[in-house]
Amino acid sequence: MSNKSQPLITVVGAGISGLYVTYCLTELYGVPGENICIVADYLPGDQSPTGYTSPWAGGVWSCISPDDKNVMWYDRFTYENLPTLSEKLLDFYKGKDAEWLGLARRPSTELWDYQPPKAKINSLSQYLEEYKVLSKEELAKFKPEGAQFGIAFNSWNFNCPVFIVNLANFLKQKHNVRFLKQKLTHIAQAKSFANKASKTDNGTHVVFNCTGLGSKKLSGVADHNLYPTRGQVAVISAPHIAESCLRYGKDYVTYIIPRPGKVHELVLGGFLQVDNWNAQDTSKEETDDILKRTTTLLPKIGNPENLPILKIAAGLRPSRYGGPRVEKEIKEESEHLVVVHNYGASGYGYQSGLGMAFKAVSLAFDKQRPSKL
Ligand SMILES: Cc1cc2nc3c(=O)[nH]c(=O)nc-3n(C[C@H](O)[C@H](O)[C@H](O)COP(=O)(O)OP(=O)(O)OC[C@H]3O[C@@H](n4cnc5c(N)ncnc54)[C@H](O)[C@@H]3O)c2cc1C
Repeated sequence: MSNKSQPLITVVGAGISGLYVTYCLTELYGVPGENICIVADYLPGDQSPTGYTSPWAGGVWSCISPDDKNVMWYDRFTYENLPTLSEKLLDFYKGKDAEWLGLARRPSTELWDYQPPKAKINSLSQYLEEYKVLSKEELAKFKPEGAQFGIAFNSWNFNCPVFIVNLANFLKQKHNVRFLKQKLTHIAQAKSFANKASKTDNGTHVVFNCTGLGSKKLSGVADHNLYPTRGQVAVISAPHIAESCLRYGKDYVTYIIPRPGKVHELVLGGFLQVDNWNAQDTSKEETDDILKRTTTLLPKIGNPENLPILKIAAGLRPSRYGGPRVEKEIKEESEHLVVVHNYGASGYGYQSGLGMAFKAVSLAFDKQRPSKL
């Protein structure tokens, strides 16, 4: 695309959803960063237990997402396109490695106390690297007893607070994307924030709404289908654990997620508490339960009584009845203001978000989505 044909673009939200959208725009669609302004009340490096989910994620590429067709496609797209994203960032940050970047490969084992949906397992088996279904004997080694199904594969692990800073700096320094700290009360206000470096303007303004739970209150969107799913985690120091392990029950999920990086953080969880907005407080009872479940599942973590705890924290997943909203809306009759919504990634924004972002950008430019780039 030549610069002349470019619209002005405002991305509202600087969590992983907004950053993935901006990555797709600049790196996959060739939109000049000078045309893009990211506006958000919290930016990478900031923290807010209730207003900014992305720094709180584990984060791992896992089987936690539902078997909804769209989400399965988003997961697959993200898994298959993370190698390119990682290469591009490491090529930019010369001399740095995956551990520094906060995006690295780790083996993962996932177990279910029930038979997971066939469609989901069929889909995963087609693209996960080093995919293997566990035998009955292998399942029986895990405690508590009762795991019905399990797989092992090569996954992606994020050091979420570090990775979003590195992705944001890449967009800023390589592409000249403008970042602005500002809270909007109405989505239409997005139009007044443009990148001042922009040299072209074809008369159209495209707004990507990547505000996560913020879309519940933001006027012009006010999506009542959004709700928080609270999760509490214990972060410990564990240089001896370099693998993820997750276990799904009918009413619980237990997860063990090593974060890339020198600090060797191990994130232990978790909880999926629907419609619980309290991320400011954490509970000792929940911490004890997390430590008990995770050390039972993977005893080599250590004795739950004396683990080196670095942090206890809680975050709010931006969940949505009906699944994530990736949808184009023409806001002005003249069609000169286009809003593309991209939010509601619940507990899978890092692992589905690149696929969601690619679809959102495709919708903006009326391009068909390819199955793989
Ligand atoms: C405990 C926990 C563990 C998790 N583990 C994983 C995992 O292992 N793997 C995984 O893939 N996902 C995981 N997740 C989910 C993941 O964190 C989310 O899906 C993801 O962070 C959502 O990102 P987002 O960009 O959509 O929203 P957010 O990160 O919340 O970003 C929203 C952005 O919009 C801005 N905003 C909102 N309203 C306004 C407004 N009115 N005006 C201006 N700006 C506004 C905010 O400031 C922010 O910049 C986990 C989540 C939790 C809580």
